[in-house]
Amino acid sequence: MTFPPFLRHGPEGAALPLVLDSPHSGEHYPEDFDHVPPRAIVRRAEDTHVARLYRAATGVGATLIEATFPRAYIDANRSLVDLDPLLLADDWPDPVTPSRKTEQGIGLVWRIARGGAPLYDRKLSAVEVRRRIDRWYLPYHAALTMEIDALHRAFGVVWHINCHSMPAVGDANADDPGRERADFVLGDRDGTTCASAFTNLVAETVRGMGYTVAVNDPYKGVELVRRHGRPAERRHSLQIEIKRTLYMDEDSLEPTTGYARLERDLARLMAVLAGFVTDRAAS
Ligand SMILES: [Zn+2]
Repeated sequence: MTFPPFLRHGPEGAALPLVLDSPHSGEHYPEDFDHVPPRAIVRRAEDTHVARLYRAATGVGATLIEATFPRAYIDANRSLVDLDPLLLADDWPDPVTPSRKTEQGIGLVWRIARGGAPLYDRKLSAVEVRRRIDRWYLPYHAALTMEIDALHRAFGVVWHINCHSMPAVGDANADDPGRERADFVLGDRDGTTCASAFTNLVAETVRGMGYTVAVNDPYKGVELVRRHGRPAERRHSLQIEIKRTLYMDEDSLEPTTGYARLERDLARLMAVLAGFVTDRAAS
């Protein structure tokens, strides 16, 4: 049996048009991921625990899709053209448009580990990068798209939350190097991927729980909200970044005492969003 590229959870009971996805919390390291730095360093690219933190969402009728594969192996929140030709030993047959993230070594296929050490002591073949796309990336995207489309067909509207976590302080490659981040950073690509009412509701709800919140600063949202957020078609997509130090030790990745509180607060947030989605879907 082959390892599944994603896991689908819930909904328990009647489904709401609310889909969560966690593209970066995968902890299954494929055998051909022959990274040079120690696993403990490579794992710092993960949004460890994020899918687990949101599991209560299924109890209010949401569906949760989580990637099983590691972000540093292939990043489900990057575009397929965001590829570094210098990473490859041979020609890539498709067009590429490397973004600044790829130039920094953290595009579709990461070239460096967090902290800057090269991930490989060799170039990758085009065939193996293609295999990563076909085996892991595309099935993940297909599953999420199918879920969102099915709910949109059934309800005429759908809300998607793209779930992430972030280092507490921006590193040298970040847009905010050395700056302490807010507890939550919401990204709707400057108001283009979801109705502001949804972004504002999430912001107000978590602020009411005592967290600090920033919107589109420093994270605006990347490939997944860009793909799925089309508010004019009643498809709303919001990225939520949570500061890792709220729930884990950034070096060991072990949950801290804050984990339980955050998990409980996310469950409360999901209950609030379920109420909003129920009202809006009926109107
Ligand atoms: Zn992430």
